[in-house]
Amino acid sequence: MDFETVIGLEIHVELSTRSKMFCGCSTEFESAPNQNTCPVCLGLPGTLPVLNREAIILAVKAGLALNCSINRKSKMARKNYFYPDLPKAYQITQNELPICSGGYVEFDCEGRHCKARINRVHIEEDAGKLIHLEDQPCSLVDYNRAGIPLIEIVTEPDIRSPLEAVSFLRTLKAILEYCEISDCRMEQGSLRCDANISVRPKGQKGFNTKVELKNMNSFRELQKALETEEKRQRELYLAGEEYRIIQETRRWDAAKGRTIPMRSKEEAREYRYFPEPDLLPVTIQEDVIKRIKETIPELPAQKLSRFVGEYKLNQSEAEVLVSDKALSEFFESTVKEGAHPKTAANWVLGDLLRILNEKKISAKNIPVKPSSLCQLIGLIEKGVISNTAGKEVFRELFESGKSPEEIIEDKGLSQISSEDVLIRLVRQVIEENPESVASFRKGKTQAAGYLVGQVMKASRGKANPKMVKELVDKELAGL
Ligand code: ADP
Ligand code: ZN
Ligand code: MG
Repeated sequence: MDFETVIGLEIHVELSTRSKMFCGCSTEFESAPNQNTCPVCLGLPGTLPVLNREAIILAVKAGLALNCSINRKSKMARKNYFYPDLPKAYQITQNELPICSGGYVEFDCEGRHCKARINRVHIEEDAGKLIHLEDQPCSLVDYNRAGIPLIEIVTEPDIRSPLEAVSFLRTLKAILEYCEISDCRMEQGSLRCDANISVRPKGQKGFNTKVELKNMNSFRELQKALETEEKRQRELYLAGEEYRIIQETRRWDAAKGRTIPMRSKEEAREYRYFPEPDLLPVTIQEDVIKRIKETIPELPAQKLSRFVGEYKLNQSEAEVLVSDKALSEFFESTVKEGAHPKTAANWVLGDLLRILNEKKISAKNIPVKPSSLCQLIGLIEKGVISNTAGKEVFRELFESGKSPEEIIEDKGLSQISSEDVLIRLVRQVIEENPESVASFRKGKTQAAGYLVGQVMKASRGKANPKMVKELVDKELAGL
């Protein structure tokens, strides 16, 4: 039987406001436990919430960037549940009338163009964090996160595979980062997603029962969890045991590589939503929406096609560059300084990304100036240093505040273009490698390439490679 997978995501995003949703407490992540709390976010009796204007602006911005319509009037609601991560015993959220509805996101998945509709974007407050101690009869609670402004983005069930879900989420994350709506640090929980998944025989019109996978906070785990759940459901259908797929919430156990039931629909919480009596409806004027619209920057998809058109980059190069706003800006600044776009892209996608990964530096904090990379590229093109030495200089740019020229001077990296010096090196290498010379004579022309490599190595990358190649050819011909 051929199956089709159906996925819809609910994504929680912490907004990049400096203070919380209903009080003046800081949203700082690094603070000591319970440092960022006050009577309002601790839910003490007699306190009243005051809505954070900046949070509303960011939510509207998100809605606009996701092609939603903005509701001029939306309402806050109380969602009641009793659990110690929520000191008020209710969460202030939106229910019937969210701030944004009906949008879409276009994205690519393995070269295919895809589109997922957005059902709604609503605002709500985050809950605190519980830390369950092992082998102890108590848990700890940290209310720093309680009351941090969130948006929840809910997609329609338009996604058709685990990989598509990941591609969608990557695109969504890039859009939110471009608009500076959130720092989107998944490892810190500022972007996390619940994934709903069902499978159905190909051709079937209606959807089957869905399962919800809670709180995925990495792309890899999201994909693995969905693949595992997809397989579990398909196997149950094939075994004729689809009745065992019930509407439930499951948890992904990364260590065991399994999804595990948390609660079924029967145990589903009855939230007793009702209008929040302590807050007025949120009203937004048309001109405010217009002004927010003007703050939306060029989005990743537009930038991608511009990079391909303007700089003649290929699709996959441009995709990597625009996936990170800061990286794309570093690339573009280097080009604006005068570097050839293709060469600049090679440096950014190769050496720069490698060093950033190695040193765990985010593209936002690249310690090298685009002008330095541009100068370095110029020095290589002029033949002052070899490409290999250039890589060493580039690495050094991360460590010292020096200019490429100063580093070349300090390290004595200028390229050797003196024929006298080079010919001595070439002869020495030829003498030391009689087997290569012999195999060259037998017609193995690649042996010449090997000798060139040895000369480059002997010069510690400083020899002018073009001259070395000519000299090796000449010497071999003359033997
Ligand atoms: P619920 O009433 O359980 O909250 P919703 O209709 O509000 O369900 O949908 C919640 C999420 O689940 C949405 O992202 C939606 O796209 C997704 N979803 C709904 N039905 C299915 C289904 N049959 N299979 C997969 N995902 C689904
Ligand atoms: Zn507070
Ligand atoms: Mg729902």
